[in-house]
Amino acid sequence: MTAGSQNGAGSLKGKVALVTGASRGIGRAIALELACRGAKVALNYRASQAEAESLAERIKEIGSEALLVQGDVAKKEEARQVVRKVLDHFGRLDILVNNAGITRDKSLRKMADDDWADVINVNLNGTYYCTSAALPAMIDQKYGRIINISSVVGQSGNFGQANYAASKGGIASFTKTLALEMARYNITANTVAPGFTCTEMLQKIPANILEQIKAKIPLGRFAMPEDVAKAVAFLAADGDYITGQQLAVNGGIYMG
Ligand code: NAP
Repeated sequence: MTAGSQNGAGSLKGKVALVTGASRGIGRAIALELACRGAKVALNYRASQAEAESLAERIKEIGSEALLVQGDVAKKEEARQVVRKVLDHFGRLDILVNNAGITRDKSLRKMADDDWADVINVNLNGTYYCTSAALPAMIDQKYGRIINISSVVGQSGNFGQANYAASKGGIASFTKTLALEMARYNITANTVAPGFTCTEMLQKIPANILEQIKAKIPLGRFAMPEDVAKAVAFLAADGDYITGQQLAVNGGIYMG
């Protein structure tokens, strides 16, 4: 966690952020980083209530405000309700981080329709639902910073991850169009594409495969959630003239 100066470069003082999937992993680190820079942060989670509560406590300890907002972003009405609750509570929404994501890894020959649909519904449709719900308020404010979490896998493809790669590639192209359409309202939209990052998601990959992946990372280690969080916070705090971009945080494993 890096404490940005409270009022100068890096500061998010006075800003309100919503981070989806904030209960653990990368989302948790992003929420903490934004709070550390002075933002009030709404923490969305689907099932991990205890983890979300402990994060809210942590954010209060560092002197910022946290709001817990349970909801499944894959369900259109719940996703819209999440955004509505943030607006009702804080009266505005400046930063939306669409981070919630899942994997259901299988080669295409073995992939069931539900494996495909579940991943597209959470990762891609959830991003669309939360974004479209947030836009009216951001347009009224003439201010918004939307940061969508894609993946190196959306850039390169990956064996056993056709559903996930499609969802993340979709997020990247969705974000470019969003950036084009929203620029006139001072709303920027960018994608952060993490490489392989130490979270529960990574733990689902067999150890021998992880070793093979690690050997290919030029910086010689997996990302920590905080590496990704710093990139998100940079775009949120200091990315005023950056829009439609995909910022890779991947240790050099893919240079697109
Ligand atoms: P993680 O540790 O598995 O955490 C996922 C988070 O998303 C949890 O907070 C989970 O909350 C939430 N979530 C899942 N489904 C949800 C839903 N339907 N509605 C609301 N929240 C939901 O994953 P992570 O590694 O931190 O991944 C975060 C993001 O980074 C994802 O978009 C992922 O694709 C991306 N990413 C990860 C890596 C990596 O190597 N870890 C690499 C590239 C990109 P609950 O437990 O409450 O469901």
